[in-house]
Amino acid sequence: MASKIDSSEYADLNRVIGWFIVLRWVAWAGVAVTLSAVRLRMLFELPFPVLYALTGLLCLLNLSFTLYFRTLKKGNLSRRETAAFFHAQIVADYTLLFFLVYFTGFLDNPFSYFFVFHVMLTAFIFSSDVVFVYVGALVAVFVGVFLAEYGGLIPHYSLGAGVSAGNLRQSLPRLLSLVSTLALSAYLITSIKRRIAEKGERVEVELDRYKNLDKIKSNFILQVTHELRGPLAAMSGYHEMILRGIGGAPSPKTLEIIQKADHRTDNLLTIIDEMIDYAYMKSGEELRQAKSELALRELIDENLELLEPHAARKQIALVSNCPRELSVRATRDLLKIILGNLVNNAIKYSPARTTVTVNAQREGGEIHLLVRDEGFGIEPEELDKIFEEFYRTRRARELERDGTGLGLPIVKRAVESLTGRLTVYSELDKGTTFHIFLPATEATDEQDPDHR
Ligand code: ADP
Repeated sequence: MASKIDSSEYADLNRVIGWFIVLRWVAWAGVAVTLSAVRLRMLFELPFPVLYALTGLLCLLNLSFTLYFRTLKKGNLSRRETAAFFHAQIVADYTLLFFLVYFTGFLDNPFSYFFVFHVMLTAFIFSSDVVFVYVGALVAVFVGVFLAEYGGLIPHYSLGAGVSAGNLRQSLPRLLSLVSTLALSAYLITSIKRRIAEKGERVEVELDRYKNLDKIKSNFILQVTHELRGPLAAMSGYHEMILRGIGGAPSPKTLEIIQKADHRTDNLLTIIDEMIDYAYMKSGEELRQAKSELALRELIDENLELLEPHAARKQIALVSNCPRELSVRATRDLLKIILGNLVNNAIKYSPARTTVTVNAQREGGEIHLLVRDEGFGIEPEELDKIFEEFYRTRRARELERDGTGLGLPIVKRAVESLTGRLTVYSELDKGTTFHIFLPATEATDEQDPDHR
């Protein structure tokens, strides 16, 4: 029986046990108050010493359950031990309630229907076969005690004149009504629970289907963007050849047109790269890639070099400062995504003849990497929105037509998958700084596999 706790409930067992204990305190207070009221008002002749002893026992038991629950929350009890704890509570509850009911009129006592709540709680925790074992035992005890009372083997504690186990015409319908209520409630609750579980399973299947579709969509984006990238990169190469004068010097007008075409092609390439990175991050592929110790300065230089032509077009100076010995545990792809997107944005959203700075330094247990520009800045109320997918600020839309609003969400995810943090500070018309904090690693012998 120990393993028959429903796994769906097992996850928040602590919450359920805590809830049980609170309910039991409420029940204990209710019993104590009711007994005292009955006794004071002399409503019925009842064996009060026994009833008070039972109430005291309930208090002691719940106290020990409370204490045991504390140790359970601290330590990691096995599934078996937790199940045993549940059974102990349920058996104690059934037994105490039964005796309380027996000494207060048994079937005459309308509180005997409180067993329905116990059946509900049992069904909440355990699977249907366990519930039926408990309910079967309960029904057997009720029938047995009824027969024993009826046969005069045990006394009947009556709640009033005219109602007694000796009176079969009144007691038998009460017994039948109680046991059928218990059996029916067990059946209803377990079948409702089964239906909910079936629905939950169906939702999970649907969710898996949607996840699969999402993966297919990401793969499709990845394929299409890869296909688009090739011809675009070739076009950019041809523009470069014309601009360099290979095949004859172009006229000033042709030069101007080709420069514009080249600029748009480059923007398109950036967008495609963002979409490729987006699909890559969405596929969760980055989590499967092995991380290694990477020299940060080298990586910063590599990425700045790639963006130099972009910066040159706006006469933006790219400046970097990073101690040679700094290294981070990452993948080249993730660092390229982070640095590439942030520096590209810094260039894109800055006026000509400004400076973009990339700094890295060790600060305690972290590597602090920052990308600063002297650009247009971001409105304070838009600062927390820029990390949302597809969000572009009003200013950005006015200043720069091309953009997907995917760069920063990708950067955020990349930083998070390196267990780092990303923050941003910005002042309108003064500039923006993105801060990245990555866990610093102790230098090891392990090297970047691409750079051996
Ligand atoms: P986009 O493709 O539009 O650049 P991003 O996700 O990279 O998309 O950036 C989201 C928005 O954040 C941008 O549209 C822009 O409004 C703002 N932004 C990002 N970086 C900067 C920056 N360095 N300076 C000013 N605004 C920025």
